[in-house]
Amino acid sequence: MTTTVLLTGASGFIALHIIDVLLSKGYKVIGTVRSQSKADKIIKNFQNEKPSGDLSFEIVEDISIPNAFDHVLEKHPEITKVIHAASPFFYGVDKDSLKTTYLVPATKGTENILTAIDKFGSKVENVVITSSFAAIVHRHKLARKYISENKVSYELTTVNPPFVLGPQKFEDVLINPTLNTSAETINKLLKTDPSDEHFFDTPLGLATDVRDVALLHVLPLEDQNLKGKRLFPVNGAFNGQTLLNVINKNFKDLKIAKGKPEGAEEHVAKNHWFYDSSKSLEWSGLGKWIPLEKTIIDSVSQILEYQKANEK
Ligand code: NDP
Repeated sequence: MTTTVLLTGASGFIALHIIDVLLSKGYKVIGTVRSQSKADKIIKNFQNEKPSGDLSFEIVEDISIPNAFDHVLEKHPEITKVIHAASPFFYGVDKDSLKTTYLVPATKGTENILTAIDKFGSKVENVVITSSFAAIVHRHKLARKYISENKVSYELTTVNPPFVLGPQKFEDVLINPTLNTSAETINKLLKTDPSDEHFFDTPLGLATDVRDVALLHVLPLEDQNLKGKRLFPVNGAFNGQTLLNVINKNFKDLKIAKGKPEGAEEHVAKNHWFYDSSKSLEWSGLGKWIPLEKTIIDSVSQILEYQKANEK
């Protein structure tokens, strides 16, 4: 019998890659999105690529409204796996609006999916939540607190990525002047001024490839060893200058900033977070993460090819 997976926030950057993995593995996917037009667009894109894929949608306009997911779980008692990827995601929110625009929807959304499962998801065996590197650093673990305080019958796994980079699942979003928060990191560098010679010390962070992140959401649905784990994929540390250096090395004709190429790796080595993602690599059985250089090259290639195909 086909296994049914509920994926929340199905229109997101990471979520579209998760749909791709799920459909490739033959799962039936029920996504939640905020509007029918988003659902129609995603169905159309996947119909071209995976015509036999079983993909449908339910509308959840706002994950933070009480009982937001109840109607979905109630309507689909066949759901046995849940991946919760819906959450507002952006950097640079000022302290005053952080709570309302970010923390409230994120935490309420998580609470709402877990309570909907309690009420209507008696067959749910696995729950995978897209968390964040920030939740490791700051030890905010609402979902884990919830399952320790409530008797639940499913296994919880979290995926805790740092900056998620890499190509978009479908290039149509490249029509937008800016991309989703993390992918915009690279897109922004392609708009830099060739005469700019300052050292791009920001952003500074750890990175991972969106395709590995997507896979890590699906493996726990199948692999007993991943149940209960917190998965932390990292393919390297970077700053704006190391990204620029990789882009300039691989796309020599591009007219973008060179910055100050020297000393970039040293700057990253001195300033990035200490990390060790070897356990996640071992547990997942992936062998190696997609290398950061490939992540960058694939992102840039997709953007350039799209621009070339659409130049007037
Ligand atoms: P996107 O912004 O691309 O996707 C977020 C998804 O959540 C979209 O489908 C969005 O819908 C939906 N969503 C946001 N707020 C609401 C709301 N109030 N009600 C209903 N739906 C909502 O982000 P990513 O794919 O990059 O990130 C997905 C998850 O991964 C998030 O939880 C994020 O915190 C986490 N993460 C991401 C990282 C990254 O670098 N990208 C790093 C670490 C964690 P719509 O498109 O309609 O707004």
